[in-house]
Amino acid sequence: MQLWTLASGSSGNCFLLESEGTHLLVECGRPIGDIRRYLAHCRVDPRALDGILLTHAHSDHIKSAREVSDAYGVPIFASLGTLGHPTLRDCDRAHAITAEDRFRVGEVEVLPFAVPHDCVEPLGFRFESATARACVTTDLGWVPESVQQHLSGLDLLVLEANYDPQLLHEGPYPAFLKSRVAGNRGHLSNAEAGLAVARTGDRAPREVWLGHMSEQNNSHGHALETIGRTLKRRGLGHVRLRVTHHRKPSLYWSSTPREEQLSLF
Ligand SMILES: [Zn+2]
Ligand SMILES: [Zn+2]
Repeated sequence: MQLWTLASGSSGNCFLLESEGTHLLVECGRPIGDIRRYLAHCRVDPRALDGILLTHAHSDHIKSAREVSDAYGVPIFASLGTLGHPTLRDCDRAHAITAEDRFRVGEVEVLPFAVPHDCVEPLGFRFESATARACVTTDLGWVPESVQQHLSGLDLLVLEANYDPQLLHEGPYPAFLKSRVAGNRGHLSNAEAGLAVARTGDRAPREVWLGHMSEQNNSHGHALETIGRTLKRRGLGHVRLRVTHHRKPSLYWSSTPREEQLSLF
């Protein structure tokens, strides 16, 4: 299994997941030109995409989903709530999925789960293949047990670390937006993300990517310091922490050790 982060944050989200020849775009929240460029960067032909998976209908997640689906004949998988968005309503390649109801696209099994966020039927995704397990979940106001259970036993977890409470408090956002971000249907703070990883205990993910980071209310330093400290205190200092970039391809992960990958060529 391989995962690339192509963009992550309120300016647009997009990840590419590959496993045993199955290619999935997770979120499609940048303009179609960017998506094409990102895929070229990963050497993936858009016509080879097997699906576009969408967590919810905010535009930083679905911006060009319909255009990409129409241009390259790619099926879209999302909750009925997300598929009710005007750009997706009459899409005949749309497949409705339900929280806690596993489905398969090619070689990848996907387990969608409900998250608390201010949108209709928002989801997170857990991916399982013969060789690896990964999870992508951003845009959630807090981590209920129903989400927490899906964060254990992973090779890679992509988790939101949206804001530092003090930077949010002192920052430029109007009061209503500050309470929306920090609310139970808003976004995860660094401390909340750190605790969620810490609670996985001896089933902690090997690697964690911190995503959907606010450009105004957070910094790489704040997130890494807060979450790193929490993990060390819980004896999880070995978990590898990395930070995604907002607008360009940044991180890459493969479940296959590098030596094995090289020997394939
Ligand atoms: Zn978002
Ligand atoms: Zn959102």
